[in-house]
Amino acid sequence: MDTAAAVESVSTDTPPSDNLREEYQGLADQVRKYRFAYYNEDAPLVSDAEFDELYRRLEELEALHPELVSNDSPTQEVGGEVSAAFTPVEHLQRMYSLEDVFSLDELDAWVRKAEASAANIAPDAKIKWLTELKIDGLAVNLLYRNGELVRAATRGDGTTGEDITHNVLTIKSIPRVLTGENIPAEMEIRGEVFIPSKDFARLNESMVEAGKAPFANPRNAAAGSLRQKDPEVTARRPLSMYVHGIGAREGLAAASQSETYELLKQWGLPTSPYYKVLESYGEVLSYIAVNGEHRHDLSHEIDGIVVKVDDFALQRALGHTSRVPRWSVAYKYPPEEVNTKLLDIRVNVGRTGRVTPYGMMTPVTVSGSTVEMATLHNQDVVKAKGVKIGDIVVLRKAGDVIPEIVGPVMALRDAQDPPVRDFVMPTHCPSCGTELKPAKEGDVDIRCPNAKSCPSQLRERVFHLAGRGAFDIEALGWEAAIALTQPAEPQVPPLTSEAGLFDLNIEDLADVRIERPKRVKGVVDGTELVPYFYSKGTAKKPSEPTATTRKLFTELEKAKTQPLWRVLVALSIRHVGPTAARALATAFGSMEAIRAASEEQLAHVDGVGPTIAAALTEWFAEDWHREIVDRWAAAGVRMADERDETMPRTLEGMTVVVTGTLPNFSRDEAKEAIITRGGKASGSVSKKTDYLVAGENAGTKLDKAESLGVPVLDEDGFRKLLDGTLAEEGTALEEGAVSEEGTA
Ligand code: NAD
Repeated sequence: MDTAAAVESVSTDTPPSDNLREEYQGLADQVRKYRFAYYNEDAPLVSDAEFDELYRRLEELEALHPELVSNDSPTQEVGGEVSAAFTPVEHLQRMYSLEDVFSLDELDAWVRKAEASAANIAPDAKIKWLTELKIDGLAVNLLYRNGELVRAATRGDGTTGEDITHNVLTIKSIPRVLTGENIPAEMEIRGEVFIPSKDFARLNESMVEAGKAPFANPRNAAAGSLRQKDPEVTARRPLSMYVHGIGAREGLAAASQSETYELLKQWGLPTSPYYKVLESYGEVLSYIAVNGEHRHDLSHEIDGIVVKVDDFALQRALGHTSRVPRWSVAYKYPPEEVNTKLLDIRVNVGRTGRVTPYGMMTPVTVSGSTVEMATLHNQDVVKAKGVKIGDIVVLRKAGDVIPEIVGPVMALRDAQDPPVRDFVMPTHCPSCGTELKPAKEGDVDIRCPNAKSCPSQLRERVFHLAGRGAFDIEALGWEAAIALTQPAEPQVPPLTSEAGLFDLNIEDLADVRIERPKRVKGVVDGTELVPYFYSKGTAKKPSEPTATTRKLFTELEKAKTQPLWRVLVALSIRHVGPTAARALATAFGSMEAIRAASEEQLAHVDGVGPTIAAALTEWFAEDWHREIVDRWAAAGVRMADERDETMPRTLEGMTVVVTGTLPNFSRDEAKEAIITRGGKASGSVSKKTDYLVAGENAGTKLDKAESLGVPVLDEDGFRKLLDGTLAEEGTALEEGAVSEEGTA
């Protein structure tokens, strides 16, 4: 965005200065260059978000200085040219682009304007809005004569496109011949060719397997696949199409676009299952909201919503500019892909010793959050993605999904200064210096075998044991785990094994220091060592434990009384998460019994199985592991659950699933209540489920339970189930203990 930022701010009162003209030209040339790379080479140089921002700036300058606008300005043209590799073809009717809006305010303004124009044309007109998904693919124009597909072309510059008939004929969903009645003598069908999301992942896997670079996104893949010289290559690509418009037509009896879609569907053309005709703007807004939320549950990628005036007479009356129709607008969702610089590739040593490369990038905003790191999983992934340190990379973050480095922008590689360099996987652990090895021969993942004393592994285990699903020690977060296991050199860490956690003394932490950025008048100036657990102290007021440190010790005391399953999770035994730990605790009741059990006995426990049983046996075979258990026990950690023998076993043999938010039970409390009464608290609904307890915002589990006929209980019903009074009530099931909606 350098150019845009550099453009001086202007006002309409002053004619554009030479400087501004020059900058304007620079901006226009840049937009042309990016368009060429995007449309003609299917290899964008910048992200769509960056392009859109440059383009908007160009529009803004032209609005302020209309004298800058020339006929060949990018804002007056439909982007895209015709490559010499294809035969040029004239469209019978011009193809347009779409006006973009990037906020609901802008959409609002557009809708008001369209309504006002419509009211001028036909005072009683009530606009019906045709809303469609904005498919992220490539526009095509299909010419049918007497029902036969005679030509297919890309959009090109809107007037002339590229002949891609042979390639389009390989797309199964596009009929060669239309069937049915009253087929027009001639018509141009406009649609979007795309690659369905599920096929895209598979296509990229096969590209990587074949040693080729994966596509950055389904749009590039679709465009690259369709604009092939060899139709056989196109035929192997999973291309689909949905109709989204109509050009020249002769003998088509339809008064609106939606009516046309219905006819096209009858004649065998693929229309989208997602479009809707809506009567009010409010409905348009909820269409935008719902599809934005479920953007990744759709069968193809979208980058926005297209809102169209449905009625053909109104469309004609509203007309178009040289670039876009005035009866249609595209609302764009916030971008999920941006470009940024890959500054470095570092490695992290995880809880199990796995060494994972991750990318450090120039921080960027994507999908509403700032991202500067993304995992690269292992060295094979780094290789497959083809990224080098110093590359400009495409970074993708889809909603809540973790950010992903998609790949490098190859065209910019040579221009990087300093030059890009390869990532080399270290041979020794960056944390403890031990030689790294794959766990088994042939494994892609490499590990640091020094599980016991590698500071990084210990830090991760300490962080894990404090987690909500383990001891739940809130005051022991990520930084505290670092301070306990890896304080600034040359101090001896307070913990060299988690075995000593409950033996810590508050006094022992007085000198623990960590490195923090040093700020001078708010500006970072190097680093400094600061005490972590104690206040800095002054001559007047000596240093003392911070409030968080005091809380840490209170919480450590509390942690000693946590139920057995939480202690089991805290031990970082492979595969032993809360579900398996609960199953073990319920079956054996004490650490001693679990330790004494044979692998076979462990494997027999419902919810445990052979893999977890083997992991447990292996874990207890290590001396230093047993030492953790023994030292924790000696420090007072409760290693057995007190069985409440008085608790009636009302749920013996029953499987109950809890979902949504209950007013008076946390999810864990509800599960605990089920288990202590002899029931099984399962995480998923199946035919074997006896009851689903559904609170507020119950999601898909509720739908599934209803479809399987599993009885659904609200909190009231759940209490009766726990008390054993639900069955006694018999018909009460229909009378209210089981709510119809499944929620209270
Ligand atoms: P556009 O993609 O914003 O909108 C017009 C196109 O949308 C139509 O031609 C059609 O192909 C498509 N479309 C998808 N679903 C549709 C539907 N339901 N109804 C109607 N049309 C539908 O406009 P454009 O001129 O093709 O491209 C501009 C956009 O392309 C920019 O906003 C930018 O995001 C991207 N672009 C990126 C770069 C880059 O370097 N990254 C360069 C040029 C363009």
